Amino acid sequence: MKTELVKINRDNFTEEEFSFAAQCLREGKLVAFPTETVYGLGGNAFDATASARIYEAKGRPSDNPLIVHIAEVSALAELASEVPESAYALADAFWPGPLTMILKKSDKVPKTTTGGLDTVAIRMPADPVAATLIRLSGIYVAAPSANASGRPSTTKAEHVIEDLDGKIDVIIDGGASAIGLESTIVDLTGEVPLILRPGYISAEQLAEVLGEVRFDEAVLKRSASENIVAKAPGMKYRHYAPKAPLYIVEGKSEEVIRYINAEAVKNAAEGRITGILATEETKKSYTGGMVFCVGERANAESIAAGLFDTLRSFDETGVSVIYSESFADNPLGTAIMNRLLKAAGYHIIRLQKDEDI
Ligand code: AMP
Ligand code: MG
Repeated sequence: MKTELVKINRDNFTEEEFSFAAQCLREGKLVAFPTETVYGLGGNAFDATASARIYEAKGRPSDNPLIVHIAEVSALAELASEVPESAYALADAFWPGPLTMILKKSDKVPKTTTGGLDTVAIRMPADPVAATLIRLSGIYVAAPSANASGRPSTTKAEHVIEDLDGKIDVIIDGGASAIGLESTIVDLTGEVPLILRPGYISAEQLAEVLGEVRFDEAVLKRSASENIVAKAPGMKYRHYAPKAPLYIVEGKSEEVIRYINAEAVKNAAEGRITGILATEETKKSYTGGMVFCVGERANAESIAAGLFDTLRSFDETGVSVIYSESFADNPLGTAIMNRLLKAAGYHIIRLQKDEDI
């Protein structure tokens, strides 16, 4: 299949530029498009064949449900069998934006879209390219992240081309995703709202609207030996992993740098190249290995925006092992560490003993 590439400037476009991609979506074809979180791989949410094609193009396990993207809050009443007041309150506060809500699904939503579940995930994206595409298509757009299953999510059209060229109909290139981490997912179907995936919208922000909110315990998992099954099916799979094994090194900054530098020397003596995921503040302190700067520690947003791109960069370098610095446990740091821990398969090297912390 030939994949068409359409470039759209998110700050200056006309609706005519969308007519081809919107028509493709209406015809059951697949269109990758930028959102403010990551790139999505869109298809008609009410067309079982289109969602089957999404799973096939990504190599995604069929029990991993898709998020349905909408352009108007009124869509909630059509997609969900019950819409609690809390959903409207969250929509008011955070939509359009990086928040996905889980509600009980209506009969109109096929189970092929929801991975067989009776619930549906819904989001209204803020990126003007995504919002315009969805509105002009006139349909609800089922869209998981536009990456091959298991690889880091895509935050640039180049990443989508790497993973999906020849497998989908259209890629819209609208530049880099502003946030760079997938949406926060909150499940509103239980007694207490549960965060199934941390993201840019923090637990604190949700609590301001909802009162009580808790994390699904799988979100806070810090080690592979904790046998907790995630409530969001997609969160239980190996995800985001670069090809080389990745280790997160935790401890005081100078100790982390000393440890990674020593490992790089040992590896070099054995003819192996060490990849290092560093930050603006630390990158000059590494004396060997192949150093990639993910962003600025002082600016957590820059780390979020650079994370998937940096994880992908290692795959083109031939490194045989990667060490990453660890990130603070502030609200956005929780989302960053959640993705990094998955990418590392929960491999953490702790340089500090518990009593030092
Ligand atoms: P992605 O769009 O690739 O970021 O993946 C969507 C995420 O949303 C996956 O982790 C899914 O498991 C999760 N998700 C989608 N629908 C549901 C649902 N009905 N219940 C729980 N999690 C969901
Ligand atoms: Mg994904």
